Order: sequence, then C-alpha cells, then structure tokens
Amino acid sequence: MEIRDWVINELFPGWKNILFRRPVIEQMALERLSICKDCEFRTGRTCDKKKGVYDAKGNFRHGCGCFVDVKARSPLSACPFGKWGIRGDLR
Ligand code: SF4
Repeated sequence: MEIRDWVINELFPGWKNILFRRPVIEQMALERLSICKDCEFRTGRTCDKKKGVYDAKGNFRHGCGCFVDVKARSPLSACPFGKWGIRGDLR
C-alpha cells in the first residue's frame, strides 16, 4: 500500500476516531485492544517493529510500528499477524 493510501484510509480515520469517539468504533477498538494487550509483539502502546518472527523463507516478519490505540480505531487496518482484521462494514 502506498503511503498516501495508508494515510487516507488508515491513519486519518484512526486519529479522527480518537478525537471524535463513537460507540460502535469504541466497541471495535475494545475487542482489538484486548488482543493487542497480551500480544508478544507489543511494546507499551506500540506494535513493535523490532519484534517479530522469521518465516519459512527466513524473512523477518515484524510488528507494524503503529500506535495500537490509533490502529485499533481504524476500521480498514488489520493486525500484521492476522490476530484481528479489517472491518469494512464500519468504514
Ligand atoms: S496489531 Fe497485532 S501484532 Fe500488533 S500488537 Fe496488536 S495484536 Fe500484536
């Protein structure tokens, strides 16, 4: 995904939903953050780029580097490890 698309589709909606809270988004964030809370790839409030796993081909797959509070409130964002997914119904 290009950075412009990421900003428009994920970063901006995430921050908008931080500033202007809506119950349906907060419910989604609560569910996602309950998974992030116990995740081995999280450090503080960040999905840590330094933490990850090597795949079968030897490539290092790592956290995305996002603030989880923002990412969890972006309906079109997804966990890089597939622990939670896109909510296109809430965009
Ligand atoms: S987004 Fe996924 S990998 Fe990142 S902290 Fe949350 S559950 Fe973990």
